[in-house]
Amino acid sequence: MPTKHFLSDKVSHFTESVIREMTRQAMLHGAVNLAQGFPDFSAPAEIKKAAQEAVAADVNQYAITWGAKSLRNAIARQMGIWQGITVDPEKEITVCCGSTEAMISTLLAVCNAGDEVVIFEPFYENYGPDSVLSGAKPKFVKLRPPKDDVGEWTFDEKELRRAFDKHTKAIILNTPNNPTGKVFTRTELELIRDLCVEFDVLAITDEIYEHILYDGTEHVSMVSLDGMRDRTVTINGMSKTYSVTGWRVGWAVAPEKITNAIRKVHDFLTVGAPAPLQEAGAAALSLPEAYYMKLAEGYRVRRDHLMPALTMAGFKCFRPRGAYYVMTDISGFGATDDVSFARTLVSTVGVAAVPGSSFYHEPSAGRERVRFHFARRRETLEAAVERLGRIKAGALSA
Ligand code: GLN
Repeated sequence: MPTKHFLSDKVSHFTESVIREMTRQAMLHGAVNLAQGFPDFSAPAEIKKAAQEAVAADVNQYAITWGAKSLRNAIARQMGIWQGITVDPEKEITVCCGSTEAMISTLLAVCNAGDEVVIFEPFYENYGPDSVLSGAKPKFVKLRPPKDDVGEWTFDEKELRRAFDKHTKAIILNTPNNPTGKVFTRTELELIRDLCVEFDVLAITDEIYEHILYDGTEHVSMVSLDGMRDRTVTINGMSKTYSVTGWRVGWAVAPEKITNAIRKVHDFLTVGAPAPLQEAGAAALSLPEAYYMKLAEGYRVRRDHLMPALTMAGFKCFRPRGAYYVMTDISGFGATDDVSFARTLVSTVGVAAVPGSSFYHEPSAGRERVRFHFARRRETLEAAVERLGRIKAGALSA
């Protein structure tokens, strides 16, 4: 019997992903999966064809470690069109295995042990373990929920300022935001920008939901603000925009020096993202503007289908302005434990959601919340709505 436990201290500081765990639970119970956010509808035919053609043309060996030239060129071109930013595809882009890898590669490339990283809370689950793995110390700043279902999530300027000091290396910003659906306004971003400049801090922005916007909101990229070009890493990917979460193609756009560091980490972590799918990525980024309008409108219809059903069932919804999640308050059920609530919901009602505590560093802060996603076909949402209807009939107390 070994006497050592063999495990690193790091792994004891975070748990397995609850989001992925809820997908397994959904499968176990035959539930409608509104937990892990990925579409159950088809990816665009053009990009599937491009992937097939790339495989057939034998684009089956390693791409250049930091990304196929065709994809980097397409990313640079679209950054110019969408953000008005000139990016050098040779020196400022690293293609990774999903934006997930882009984020951890970036943090490993920039953080030293003890560096502090500011994170808005609730936050996308991965940022917690990402901080631990990179040795950074997260400092959380609260996003406060709106009073009613039409209000916006906000933060307190003074609280944000207090989170910045001489140890702050970076701020991680996710807009449009998972799990709240908040879309940071230009004014909010300028305020964050001013702090980044004052404290000499890097902004690492996860903009994976960039094209999924509602109610006339506008996506503003931090890198496009005056003073941020040299202190922003912009992370994005194909998963959400082109409905291909399993392809694992994402990227980080950063100034040359930071890119060189990200590329080194990325190379030794994964060598490269799937080569044929990078070619398909170049085709995806060439889809016409109308594609993005249709994408956002499709999600708006889905949001407006699910939210009334959740409200009817007794959830208090916080209306998302972007991304494809709706955060809810479950206090109306008298529930005090989000995890057992989500377990009962999946096993008894047949709908999987993510317990709110997954998005908070102190689980108690999320005890009265659960998150649903609505990246589902109409029929799937109809099945979910029908099941949610059973709650009023007493399904949750069974
Ligand atoms: N971003 C999605 C979510 O929050 C999926 C996460 C994942 O499993 N990579 O549900």
